Amino acid sequence: MVYFPQSCEALVLRHTNYGESDVILSLFTAEYGLQKGFAKSARKSRKRFGAVLEPFTQAVFQWKKGRGDFWLLQEAELVNSRIGLRGDLQCLALASYGVELVDLLLEEGHPHQLIYELLCSFLDYLEQGGDELSARLLFELRLIYLLGYMPHLLHCSECLRIFNNELIRFDANRGGSLCLDCAGESGISIELGTVGSLARSLKVAHQQFEGFSFSQKTLQQASLILNQVFQQILPREPKSLRFLSQL
Ligand SMILES: [Zn+2]
Repeated sequence: MVYFPQSCEALVLRHTNYGESDVILSLFTAEYGLQKGFAKSARKSRKRFGAVLEPFTQAVFQWKKGRGDFWLLQEAELVNSRIGLRGDLQCLALASYGVELVDLLLEEGHPHQLIYELLCSFLDYLEQGGDELSARLLFELRLIYLLGYMPHLLHCSECLRIFNNELIRFDANRGGSLCLDCAGESGISIELGTVGSLARSLKVAHQQFEGFSFSQKTLQQASLILNQVFQQILPREPKSLRFLSQL
């Protein structure tokens, strides 16, 4: 059976050297989700692949189906190299973290247009020198939401009462926000304003990162909330997270 090359835009998540001159790429595409691409002799001949082999690069790849699940990459046309991400260590660490979260949380081969757009705009915003703390909050929150892991925010996860001007607690293991009567000692103390900010942020288009301004307290409490959720859903701790927290 002869396979003709197919073509599709993809974002390079990871690059692994293989053998003497080959490269294996972890790719993320809107149409086909996560895929593995095999670029034969890519390190010998820069002509076919040029600068598209590095992480965060977006390119249109031509590929044929290989044995197993690999795509045999034929050639590629650069769309965006995002080379600016490599100029700032903090920025690079956060971009690597975003890419690793997607790599860890999505199932191979499952298309996800919105998460593709989310990740690309997150990387673009970081490259343009956008605010890293709010970018991280928005990216993590939207990723959880788009994957269907959103905890309850504005009402108690257990008695379902809608909160009104009160202190609350948050425990991802019990579904999210809790009123003090239901919570007892469980979870962490959170201000209603924080979960209100998170809920409002989700009403904005998933590609928009400009124009947000979170208070220090919201950023701190949101990161506690999001950490709890990620601890529940991640198969392991992202390697880039350790690097990120050391900076
Ligand atoms: Zn309750």
